[in-house]
Amino acid sequence: MKLHSEPTLLSKGVYLQIPVKITLLDEAIIRSNEPEEVLTFKYNNLGNRFIIPWRKIKGKLRRLVLEKQRGLNIESKCALKDDLCMKCPTCFLFGGTGETSSAGAQYNILSRIYGETFISEREIGDITPYTANAVREQDLTTGQALMSILTVPKETVFRGVVTLKDPTPEMVAILVDNINRLSRIGARSVEWGRVQTEIEGFHLSDREELSIYLDFQNKIKVESKVKKDLKKLLSRQNLPSVDRAYKILDRQVKKLISSLAGKGKNQGKKTGKTPGS
Ligand SMILES: [Zn+2]
Repeated sequence: MKLHSEPTLLSKGVYLQIPVKITLLDEAIIRSNEPEEVLTFKYNNLGNRFIIPWRKIKGKLRRLVLEKQRGLNIESKCALKDDLCMKCPTCFLFGGTGETSSAGAQYNILSRIYGETFISEREIGDITPYTANAVREQDLTTGQALMSILTVPKETVFRGVVTLKDPTPEMVAILVDNINRLSRIGARSVEWGRVQTEIEGFHLSDREELSIYLDFQNKIKVESKVKKDLKKLLSRQNLPSVDRAYKILDRQVKKLISSLAGKGKNQGKKTGKTPGS
């Protein structure tokens, strides 16, 4: 099983799976009044665990990739939410919806990078999040919104698997660089603080075989399936330097997208010849 030499539009069924370990360096204090901020979960088989939802990790990774890309002057106007350019390495790796982007693209891009919920290695006792009225900082008066406060101890270890679909050496170089740069997790309302992120190995296959969720239930053993030496695999695959990887992938993505747009035009002409015209 090898990496692809060029990115593909349609899936060719190659999966690079990377188990990742995230260790909290600081005690994290989670103040949240957003109901979707799920930070603990009671699993039937695993009991109570702290969790980091995948979308949080993905969001952070996407921002890191985008920042780095801007530093290299690639589509520097591409921005999250409504201003996706839909033709840069970040959009290609993390996906986007054409209709809602300001680029007005006629296509969607499926995310090539996805992952699981990161789960704390250890079970936690009864969780009693402290619920308080949210306090407005300006005058310390109590607002209407309820806020829950939860403390996650320092050195809590989270594990999860990040998957890259149909990887090329350039895509791997970019993903690995940015996982290694993940040194902080958080958003406005959640202060996770500093983290240490470690890649635990890799697994290249024609199917997804790794899951920490299953590992924690002793249904598979992730450690026995992964190869440890990511560098070795990557050097065999002529992994370019990170900066070069962005430039090469940018060129390749634009070529792919223009082939897509070209096809669209031809199809338009064909439909013009349908009966009745
Ligand atoms: Zn973009």
